[in-house]
Amino acid sequence: MNATLLDSNTFPAFEVYTARDLERIPQLERLPRQARFDMQVVSTVLPFRVNRYVVEHLIDWDAVPDDPIYQLTFPQRGMLADEHYETIATLLERGAEKAQLEEAVKRIRQALNPHPAGQIELNIPRDDSGEPIWGLQHKYPETVLFFPAQGQTCHSYCTFCFRWAQFVGDKTLRIATSQARQLTEYLRRHPEVTDVLFTGGDPMVMKTSHLAAYLEPLLEPEFAHIRSIRIGTKALTFWPFRFLDPDEGDALMRLFERVLAAGKHLAIMAHLNHWRELEPEATQRAIARLRGIGATLRGQAPLIRHINDDPDVWAKLWQKEVELGIIPYYMFVERDTGAKQHFAVPLVRCWTIYRDAASRVSGLARTVRGPSMSASPGKAEILGVSTVAGERVFVLRFLQARDPQWTYRPFFARYDENATWLDELEPAFGEREWFWSAAYRSMTERPAPAVEPVN
Ligand code: SF4
Repeated sequence: MNATLLDSNTFPAFEVYTARDLERIPQLERLPRQARFDMQVVSTVLPFRVNRYVVEHLIDWDAVPDDPIYQLTFPQRGMLADEHYETIATLLERGAEKAQLEEAVKRIRQALNPHPAGQIELNIPRDDSGEPIWGLQHKYPETVLFFPAQGQTCHSYCTFCFRWAQFVGDKTLRIATSQARQLTEYLRRHPEVTDVLFTGGDPMVMKTSHLAAYLEPLLEPEFAHIRSIRIGTKALTFWPFRFLDPDEGDALMRLFERVLAAGKHLAIMAHLNHWRELEPEATQRAIARLRGIGATLRGQAPLIRHINDDPDVWAKLWQKEVELGIIPYYMFVERDTGAKQHFAVPLVRCWTIYRDAASRVSGLARTVRGPSMSASPGKAEILGVSTVAGERVFVLRFLQARDPQWTYRPFFARYDENATWLDELEPAFGEREWFWSAAYRSMTERPAPAVEPVN
């Protein structure tokens, strides 16, 4: 790792390694042969992509395999269940036909819950004729998520990513559109929407001209109800030069200035897993540049085993964010998809880590909400563990909910030290179901759109 090698005038070429290039990564030569084969097996099923900047400047190869950024970007054996691992390993070892391998991969991916939390069934909105609008998700009344087709990749992939299905080249698993018109027509019909989140993938992989084609229509007076533009990105740490280079970086700043001049709040939702990501000078310059034009930066990330399941890591991350001008915003719980069994942390430990980390920082860093599960009924925050009427319980509430009436209403779950997700919990005090269960059931009764994105 060499975090200081890049001086302020150096803009390295962007070069990525994918599953086909594992043998080309010189740093991997020092790993045992078995570890490299494991990577090959896992990356046959789950997406792998890492750029040279991350390999050379963020990973401490002397600390591998424990290095958190290595765990964040390189496939690990435990990411596949034994049965899935054996299937693919056997096929690779015996040089199986491409079609046979693809069939096995497809079957395994479908078993990994590619679109958790009702994303396809419940979040894809419909047009007036009832047709699904692929490329949009509308779960909470005030916020629409937009998935631009050109932004459905990232500068590197995170091993735990819950959007992994967007990256595996299977269009039936992908949510995206290249039509700005779909977004504008939808927003025109939904004056209750105040926030648009550009997401992916990472919208910052897009050329500025593509991003402008989606963003600029929203600056017109007819979209005065859109008050905030959010951009979810990990480019600040995976490829900070996106914000710095004299062509695309400058053009991006001019575009963002137009957004701000139109009176919108521009929020960069920075995906930050570990304080180490904030050390490189290029990242700090990119943050300063965005702040300099008036953008607001917020930091968010899931709590992940092997990467950041340590209160010291979170305390240092939040402290560093505050120093650099990023508002600590969310600590998420790892979602129930993909390689969850490898990365999940029990809810009770998530809460302990959150509380311990919060106790080590000043109030300025305690703006973080969480640990929060982005579950199908809503964002369920764990408020704590308590004993009520002699029963040990989790206390929870929805920070956001499909029905806004559910928001912030505390509810109780029976204590379960192994539970890692909302649907593994049961209502406390002998209740048969949650207070939202009946209403949620009626929401889920409409037929799901056929999984066939048009783009
Ligand atoms: S940057 Fe975000 S979308 Fe991209 S791989 Fe990482 S978690 Fe997934």
